[in-house]
Amino acid sequence: METKKIPYKIYLEEKEMPREWYNVRADMKKKPAPILNPTTLKPVTEEELSSIFCEELARQELDDTTAYFPIPEEIRDFYKMYRPAPLVRAYCLEKKLGTPAHIYYKFEGNNTSGSHKLNSAIAQAYYAKKQGLKGVTTETGAGQWGTALSMACSYFDMDCQVYMVKCSYEQKPFRREVMRTYGAKVTPSPSMKTEVGRRINEEFPGTMGSLGCAISEAVEAATSQENYRYVLGSVLSQVLLHQSIIGLETKAALDKYHIKADVIIGCAGGGSNLGGLISPFVGEMLRGEADYKVIAVEPASCPSLTRGTYAYDFCDTGKVCPLAKMYTLGSSFMPSANHAGGLRYHGMSSVVSELYDQGLMEARSVEQTAVFEAAQTFAKVEGILPAPESSHAIKVAIDEALKCKETGEEKNIVFGLTGTGYFDMVAYGKFNDGEMKDYIPTDEDISKSIATLPKVN
Ligand SMILES: *Cc1c(COP(=O)(O)O)cnc(C)c1O
Repeated sequence: METKKIPYKIYLEEKEMPREWYNVRADMKKKPAPILNPTTLKPVTEEELSSIFCEELARQELDDTTAYFPIPEEIRDFYKMYRPAPLVRAYCLEKKLGTPAHIYYKFEGNNTSGSHKLNSAIAQAYYAKKQGLKGVTTETGAGQWGTALSMACSYFDMDCQVYMVKCSYEQKPFRREVMRTYGAKVTPSPSMKTEVGRRINEEFPGTMGSLGCAISEAVEAATSQENYRYVLGSVLSQVLLHQSIIGLETKAALDKYHIKADVIIGCAGGGSNLGGLISPFVGEMLRGEADYKVIAVEPASCPSLTRGTYAYDFCDTGKVCPLAKMYTLGSSFMPSANHAGGLRYHGMSSVVSELYDQGLMEARSVEQTAVFEAAQTFAKVEGILPAPESSHAIKVAIDEALKCKETGEEKNIVFGLTGTGYFDMVAYGKFNDGEMKDYIPTDEDISKSIATLPKVN
């Protein structure tokens, strides 16, 4: 059979960029469990949600039935500055590994924020602007989301207040300055500016913070200022919806060369890039049109899918956000230091959790030293210095490719390369000096925080 030679980079043309986001919930027979009001423990209404989130985003959050949402022209125009993102055939990595597998990665690091997060940031800033708001508040862990949101807000001339997890604030001064250059106000979290921040500081003296804490602070900041709303960079179903552009473009690029993916791999923090990447493929699985092996990869230090419990939990440490049913380690779980800050979250998107529970994907946890080894292997041959988060997916893609070497299978392996690691050089430095440690929580650590799960029916 004659096959077209597949180029190193499969580019889509601007006009081939998706015009609609795809909502995988529409094709799920069993939907993710509804999110609950933290006070009443009843499913949240659109009206209640609209006091925290922008109206259109609240609508998207609760819509389980609309399969396609048109992408507004203004958002598409912004996307055109850095999209469509290339799908790269990792010829050099294949050669280095000596594998018969074909490895592809979707590269989302081609913008100043350095990650996929801009895809949702621009959408959220747009809807806030359209609603006539003055500004938005948010949290950021490693800083990628805060950077993305700062860029999006400055584009639409909106105020942007970022609560940044304290360890990153101190470890990553350059991230902070990128945000400030785009006009954002950045506060280390937990801070003394909010009630919840003061409470957490009192309860955990000297804490370097967590995403969960920073979320609570940002929500409080939004609800205590007029004409502000809170926006979130992951976990929520609306974010997965926006991130579906990753999967839609990946699928369009593969289809162009009649390539059928066998294995699809993504790293999982809150689940948005993974959910976005796999959505169109899982949609086919749900409709009985195709089958794929889907793998979520998480850090061994924060293993929500592989060692968590599927239950309702708070999305934040301060317990002000709606509750979601998800794979969780408990909202009081304080992950040990890990250099993949974007993956240090106790829970997981309720969509990804439900798909995992239905057996539509597998999950693996990997230790960070092995992740950085994979990152270095990749960087040396493929030319891109990957983010530690993304390198979780690289690690498992390499493992899968090496399995193919043993069996001689020519599988098509596709993974999400969510971003670049230029702001993670402290972590790379630790790795290069041989000082990196692998922290794995004990069963006791996990059961302690699981014991504090809210009692919901
Ligand atoms: C934030 C981030 C992630 C993890 O977030 P998800 O919502 O799980 O996608 C992964 N990679 C990079 C580069 C990130 O910035």
